[in-house]
Amino acid sequence: MFVDKRCYNIAKEKHYCPHCKEQLSCCHTPPYHVGDGLGWGTEIFFICLNDDCPLFNNSWEEFEINYGQSASCRYMLLPNEPKGGPMMVGSKDAFTGSIVDPEELEKTNERLNSEKEALRQLETCVEEKNLKPLITLIVDEEASLPGRHRACELLDKIDDLACIDPIRAHTFLHTEIGQYAELAIGRILKNQNRIECGYCAEIIKAQAKICKHCGKETRKG
Ligand SMILES: [Zn+2]
Ligand SMILES: [Zn+2]
Repeated sequence: MFVDKRCYNIAKEKHYCPHCKEQLSCCHTPPYHVGDGLGWGTEIFFICLNDDCPLFNNSWEEFEINYGQSASCRYMLLPNEPKGGPMMVGSKDAFTGSIVDPEELEKTNERLNSEKEALRQLETCVEEKNLKPLITLIVDEEASLPGRHRACELLDKIDDLACIDPIRAHTFLHTEIGQYAELAIGRILKNQNRIECGYCAEIIKAQAKICKHCGKETRKG
């Protein structure tokens, strides 16, 4: 679920139900607006999920009598609207599964910001020999794939062995990106005439006979 900065600010707003005075819950909008088939124009909205709300409690009977239907209403409010209105719900649990967790939203927001900043820095990172934005993108499983690919490509240009540890420490869910990064590491090692010790994995000169870190004889090839 993509939630932008605007959503994040909206989710922090406090609104109250005119029927029961309880604070409204912020929820993700369902895929389509019930009834008119149009989009909601928002990813989040506010709804009164208080089961003791008079609107919710009293509407069951109304629906039963008027439409012979087991349904009720909850008070809902769209962001940036001065006034809300009733929304039909088929059950007590409708929407309880889509409550927006502000902490989760904040994390998503932070991740998006760091991705955006890293993408912006791709322009200058080679010149500045700055690995940070590349690593940020490569190990961010939720970042856009073109950005992560580009970051792998730029690893060669920065040509810094310091990229190895953070990449190796990461578990790639997107294995293709992991392979790209691994190939780049291979090229950088070759370019710098280095190998990884087959015993301790420390980086040593390709022509070393003995690993200076673990003292073992190096295995060639
Ligand atoms: Zn209410
Ligand atoms: Zn070693």
